[in-house]
Amino acid sequence: MSADQLRAQLDTLEAQYRALAERQLSLDLTRGKPGTEQVSLSDALDGILEGDYRASNGTDVRNYGGLDGLPEAKALFSKVMGVPESDIVIGGNSSLTLMYSVIDFALNVGLRGAESAWGNSDELKFLCPVPGYDRHFAICEHLGIEMIPVAMDANGPDMDEVERLVSSDPAIKGIWCVPRFSNPTGCVYSEETVERLARLGTIASDDFIVMYDNAYAVHTIDADAPELANIRDYSVKHGTESSVFQFGSTSKVTFAGAGVAFLSSSPANLAAFKQHLGFQSIGPDKVNQLRHVKLLQSPAGIAAHMEKHAALLRPRFAAVLATLENELGDTGMGEWLSPQGGYFISFNTRPGLAQTVVKLAADIGVALTPAGATYPYGNDPEDSNIRLAPSYPSLKDVQATAEAFVICVKLASIRQALA
Ligand code: PMP
Repeated sequence: MSADQLRAQLDTLEAQYRALAERQLSLDLTRGKPGTEQVSLSDALDGILEGDYRASNGTDVRNYGGLDGLPEAKALFSKVMGVPESDIVIGGNSSLTLMYSVIDFALNVGLRGAESAWGNSDELKFLCPVPGYDRHFAICEHLGIEMIPVAMDANGPDMDEVERLVSSDPAIKGIWCVPRFSNPTGCVYSEETVERLARLGTIASDDFIVMYDNAYAVHTIDADAPELANIRDYSVKHGTESSVFQFGSTSKVTFAGAGVAFLSSSPANLAAFKQHLGFQSIGPDKVNQLRHVKLLQSPAGIAAHMEKHAALLRPRFAAVLATLENELGDTGMGEWLSPQGGYFISFNTRPGLAQTVVKLAADIGVALTPAGATYPYGNDPEDSNIRLAPSYPSLKDVQATAEAFVICVKLASIRQALA
């Protein structure tokens, strides 16, 4: 476009933006929370035990004990994770808590005895595929672990770079991964990436771990979404079971914050970790575990339940993606992937514009995740990534937000082009 054409478009956009400001919007696309209709899908949890509190092995779930979870919960969630029933621990309500506990354990107690505690080293580093999940990065920052960003593409982290780094720097103790419907890009790690992650244990320092947060394992929106290869099979193949910790939860299956979380690793890691867990808790909430098994029943039961979530999420994702495509496709003003599951759409503005777009949106009552939140230390060096989370607002509000968002992107882009 010529400068005159750009200026004419800028006038139109400024007018559209002012009109939006006058509408005094109050929209929020910040956090990946399930919507109210989604959580309502699991309301049957309440009262589902009908007074029968006995687990399959006769345990009275109302009482203390059973640190590693109920057998029927292990049977169900080990299938979700693709691991043997013996290699899973069913915990409390949050996988993030389990992740924090594993890092705390490796740091302060040692995965393989006190000698192996990461805290014995002066320098500790973690690889952080970017853009990624802010709460993973917050754990590292809180515990004083230096974060090294690694680029992501449609197949997952740049594995050439990951292998180069872990094989040359023993201070690197781990890597964060969200392998299926990654937060926020929505990509599914390719089979090759999964195998290369499993193989890292053969080239990294002995106490290196893959923090494999499979938070969106069953959170498919499109029926033909890619499956994820089984990392446990590859870690058995390469003899690296102890270098992989897998996590999952039902936070976005049943009730967010009132679900069931689980973790899997090698038998040796689990034995050591359970001892550590025993200092934190007498046992998990087994009542909730039993309620979850009764509600979800089987992998097929989980799939049927997740299809109901998908029916609610699909139009919200479609609304955002169609608006982005119609308004910004072919303009060069942004790039995004079309996720087939998960909770997010990751949008890249032209370099240097993410903060401006988020501020423009905030000024007209549209809350977006802060620019930079998807990067370690909140620092997106390109200032371009914005995470959009369309699950919680009503469809009408998602549509209105998407429309306001594209106006902010266009306005920022054209102002930049004319500057
Ligand atoms: N991991 C990822 C990648 C997430 O996006 C979320 C929720 N936003 C969590 C973990 C939190 O899981 P939980 O509720 O089990 O702690």
